[in-house]
Amino acid sequence: MRLSRYFLPLLKETPASAEIASHRYMLRAGMIKQHSAGIYSWLPLGFKVMKKIEQIVREEQNRAGAVEMLMPTIQGADLWQESGRYDDYGKEMLRITDRAGRELLYGPTNEEMLTDVFRTFVRSYKELPQLLYHIQWKFRDEVRPRFGVMRGREFLMKDAYSFDIDMDAAVVSYNKMFIAYLNTFARMGLKAIPMQADTGPIGGDLSHEFLILADTGESEVFCHADLVDMPAPGLDVDFANGDPNDLQSLVDERTALYARTDEMHEPSVFESEVPRSKRLSARGIEVGHIFCFGDKYSKAMGAKVMGPDGKEHFAQMGSYGVGVSRLVGGIIEASHDDAGIIWPKSVTPFGVGIINLRVGDDVCDKTCEDIYNQLCAAGVDPLYDDKKDRGGVKFSRMDLIGLPYQIVVGPRGLKDGIVEIKDRKTGERQNQSPEAAIAFITAQYADMSL
Ligand code: ATP
Ligand code: MG
Repeated sequence: MRLSRYFLPLLKETPASAEIASHRYMLRAGMIKQHSAGIYSWLPLGFKVMKKIEQIVREEQNRAGAVEMLMPTIQGADLWQESGRYDDYGKEMLRITDRAGRELLYGPTNEEMLTDVFRTFVRSYKELPQLLYHIQWKFRDEVRPRFGVMRGREFLMKDAYSFDIDMDAAVVSYNKMFIAYLNTFARMGLKAIPMQADTGPIGGDLSHEFLILADTGESEVFCHADLVDMPAPGLDVDFANGDPNDLQSLVDERTALYARTDEMHEPSVFESEVPRSKRLSARGIEVGHIFCFGDKYSKAMGAKVMGPDGKEHFAQMGSYGVGVSRLVGGIIEASHDDAGIIWPKSVTPFGVGIINLRVGDDVCDKTCEDIYNQLCAAGVDPLYDDKKDRGGVKFSRMDLIGLPYQIVVGPRGLKDGIVEIKDRKTGERQNQSPEAAIAFITAQYADMSL
């Protein structure tokens, strides 16, 4: 992409309303525009990052055996009356009446809708397990939308739902999602810690929230410090044919140590289980939440299947959410400096920025065009700053938008046949020939697995 043809409306001033770094940088870097409280337009740069995050979420859901579908944003009130949540959900639910006077709502989540799909089509245990997901906008009329996309009213969520014949099988589905979540967040460069969670209005027995540590997080968390650096299970977990006990051990290893949010925190247990030097109390951002709630919805809505015993059983269910749009802010909270954002390679909107310090100079222009064309061909997706601004403007702009690498092309270096590569995170600079720079950048994106 050539910057001269891109839509990147940067802000010079830091908006006063933005209290945290991610919100400030998303506004300043032209990623989002607020429409009204908690409702945003995603401008091209922000949209590109969100799509990359969404794709990682999708790949890890698919790897774990979940199947993608799409449900509507607008739901009928009738299903929610059946489950009993129409009244329970209260003011967070945006209620709408259509021209025929029918009560509708903008979905805050989809347990009811998918339970309805399930009860319509699935009759036998032979069709289980089912693990289905979609990535769709949600609306929750939050009391206090804030921190930009972190607590929006309209936000993008991946929500998956599992249906099993009994609780043992439901736990296997739960474990698959637990493992998939850790891999998902690790691929985004995040250290997410699973924490024992309150099951809240969704109800049920087994629940974990996944939190990334950040001073600006809304949740207070307490955990054993060793959890912070525990590696993700890895992409070679055999979800399809592996022994369920192996999945269970991976989960057990990661739930053995104390980790709870304030809602579930018990100081006496924390102090007795965790040695003083390992007690970590911090703040965190919830990026995912998984529940196993058994037959709560299947019973209320009559979602039954025939079991191997010839009797009808209510499906045992779980639901699994990831805050896709919140993650855009969460990743920035975890990775930025005073100059701007520092994107992890896996979600960066462009692989590298090419800065032409003298647009209009034949040699500079030609070198940049060559680098640009070759990197495009290599699939690195460069952003070429071909605008006629001063060097200082170009440097700070490129730092702000946070691409992992920059290639700086100027007349002085080119006299000696060199360009400069800058690593955005470390600030390290190296001088290379244009060919070597192209090879270096291409190599950085050659292996993007965990
Ligand atoms: P929170 O405790 O932050 O209000 P929740 O428990 O209501 O979240 P879930 O119903 O578990 O959220 O939703 C799944 C995921 O969706 C959350 O883990 C979070 O990442 C994301 N999410 C929830 N509410 C919002 C919101 N208002 N804005 C952006 N993302 C959200
Ligand atoms: Mg939650």
